[in-house]
Amino acid sequence: MDWSKIANQHLLEISPYVPGKPVEEVQRELGLDTVHKLASNENILGPSPKAVEAIRNAAAQVNFYPDGSCYYLVDALAKTHGVEPSQIVIGNGTDEVIRLLCNALLGPDGNVVYAHPSFVMYKISSMVMDAQRIEVPLKDTYTHDLDALAAAVTDKTRMVFVCNPNNPTGTIVKKAAVDAFLDKLPQGVLAVFDEAYFEYVEDPEYPDSLDYFKAGRAVVCLRTFSKVYGLAGLRVGYGIMDSSLAGVLHRVRNPFNVNALAQAAAVAALGDADHLAAARKFNSDGKNYLHAEFDRMGLSYAASEANFVLVDIKRDAQAVFETLLKKGVIVRPGKFLGFPTHLRVSIGDQAGNQAFIKALEEILGS
Ligand SMILES: *Cc1c(COP(=O)(O)O)cnc(C)c1O
Repeated sequence: MDWSKIANQHLLEISPYVPGKPVEEVQRELGLDTVHKLASNENILGPSPKAVEAIRNAAAQVNFYPDGSCYYLVDALAKTHGVEPSQIVIGNGTDEVIRLLCNALLGPDGNVVYAHPSFVMYKISSMVMDAQRIEVPLKDTYTHDLDALAAAVTDKTRMVFVCNPNNPTGTIVKKAAVDAFLDKLPQGVLAVFDEAYFEYVEDPEYPDSLDYFKAGRAVVCLRTFSKVYGLAGLRVGYGIMDSSLAGVLHRVRNPFNVNALAQAAAVAALGDADHLAAARKFNSDGKNYLHAEFDRMGLSYAASEANFVLVDIKRDAQAVFETLLKKGVIVRPGKFLGFPTHLRVSIGDQAGNQAFIKALEEILGS
C-alpha cells in the first residue's frame, strides 16, 4: 500500500525540509578536530546561565505535564511588552505560531502574500492549508518590496507576512515604509511581522511592530527565544495579536505545546538583561568583523541587521560549501535559500568567524 496516494494530495507538493547532519557525524566522517557550525543562526555565545540553572531546577519535575497555559511565561511577557496575557500565544518555537496562524486564517479559498526569498515556513505552513500563495520578489536583490507586497493583495488575501529582519538576507524595512505599507492594507488583511531577530537590530529607523499593534492596527508581532536568547534547542517562541485571534489559535494548538523546561528557561532568560546585552555585543562585534572582511576581500553582501550575513561569492556556492565543510566550517549554501551564488554564514565566536574567513580566502584564492 502506498499511503502517499491516499494522503491529502496537496501535501505532496511540499518539499521536505532537509536537515543538516549532526555536527558530531561531520566531525567523525571528515576526521576533524574542531568544527564551527555557522549554519542555523544559533547564538554561539550560548544560553543565559540563569536559563541553564532554571532547566536544572525544573528537570526533576518532568514527570508532570507542563503548565498548558504557560502562566508564568505569559505573565512575564505581558509585563515586558505592556500587553494583556490574552493577547499572547506561546508556541513550540515561532514556527508553531506561524503554523497556527495559517491553520486559523487560511484555506483553499483564501490567499497569503509574502516575499521571496524569505523564511520558508510561510510557504510550508500555507501549503499545509492548501491556500493560494502569492510570492513577491525582493527588490534590489535583498530587501522586502513593501509597495509590491501591498499591491499583490487581492480581495481573497487574509494575511501578509513581513520578515523583518528578513531571513536569509538580514535586511530590514524601515519605519516610514512600514507606515505607508500598513496604510495601504485593506481591512481584514492581517500583517504578520516576523521579528525573530528583533533584539539584534541596530538601525534607529527600525520599526517595532508592537507599536502598530498597540495603536490598534491589524498586526501580529512574532518573536522567539531561539535567537538572541540562545534557547533554540528548547523550542519556544510567541506571537502577540488581537485576543479574538489568540482565542482561535488556543483552540487549535496542542494543550501542552510548550514543554516545562522551555517555559522555565524562557522566564529566566527574559529576566537576564546582562546576558541579553552581552549577546547583542557579541553579535555586533562579529557582524562588524565579517562585514569588514568581506569589504577587504571585495565580496558583496547584504548589510545585515541580524545574526548572520548573506555573502555573494559569485560562483556555485554548493561546491564552496562542501570545501568549507572539509575545512571544518559549516555554513548554509544559498541554493535552497534562493541565492545559488551566496553563502549564509551565522555570526560565530571570534575563532569561528576567523576560521570561516581563512578557509573562504583559501578557497576563493585557489
Ligand atoms: C529562526 C526564525 C524563526 C523562529 O524559529 P523558532 O526557533 O521556531 O522560534 C522565525 N522566523 C524566522 C525568520 C527565523 O529565522
